[in-house]
Amino acid sequence: MAYQTGVLEALNDWGVNYREYPGCRTRGYSSFWPLGMVEHHDAIEARWTYPPSIFADGRPPPNYLPGPITNFCNTFDGIVWVIALGAANHAGTGSWRGIYGNSKVWGLEQQNAGNGVQVYPDAQIESTVLLTSALAEFSGFDASMVCRHAEWTSRKIDPYGPWQDGHLWQNDMDHFRALVAQGGTPDMTEAESKMLVEIHQELFGQPKFGYPKLRDAATGLMIAKAKGSRQGWITNGIVKVKAQKGLGGFLANRGVPKVEMEPEVLGAIPVVGE
Ligand SMILES: [Zn+2]
Repeated sequence: MAYQTGVLEALNDWGVNYREYPGCRTRGYSSFWPLGMVEHHDAIEARWTYPPSIFADGRPPPNYLPGPITNFCNTFDGIVWVIALGAANHAGTGSWRGIYGNSKVWGLEQQNAGNGVQVYPDAQIESTVLLTSALAEFSGFDASMVCRHAEWTSRKIDPYGPWQDGHLWQNDMDHFRALVAQGGTPDMTEAESKMLVEIHQELFGQPKFGYPKLRDAATGLMIAKAKGSRQGWITNGIVKVKAQKGLGGFLANRGVPKVEMEPEVLGAIPVVGE
């Protein structure tokens, strides 16, 4: 029952593109043990790049609501702002699959006017999926515990409106939950996906449950992409990487057993393990 500061490490692991809003680590109610997540749109007409103070400080009278009013918000560009790592006043009265109360659910306000016309760009949806998957893994719930605010309570319609790829929040929440369950929006061909499975098994063995866990999938995806661009490959369980700045460190941070650099680029990339 505490501020969920450990989640920042999970966001790093999952590759969520996030920024900390000042004070986020100790903002909100310290009694906070999320077992699910509620998705929202922020219904703000003007496009913001730095989070408006309402997220952290709350809504002024006459519709007074003490802040914080969300745990996270994200932009059209897919940047996630961490507003509060304690419980926030976002869900209100309602419930989902037996849980109720803001102390039991994470909340995300997605930048969108919520008028049913404004589009949620691909980058934003991907960031929402990735964040939700990361939170689900960190807090130990599965995709079925993720809902729209409109599913939490009939008082609300959010999130509402069209995704860039044609899905609609109001019709396609099961599709969203499926994306969360698989740990992100697939951006691979079937062949690449198959390769990812093989890479995952080679590196990590058979997964304990679910598949693939995105933390590992992200690693595999990097390798798969490296392979696709002939910049990396696996031989006898050893990952070999060439000329992709930062990839060596990325893999090492995620516990890839052994990474070898091609001699000609050793000078350009820090040697892993030093
Ligand atoms: Zn809402």
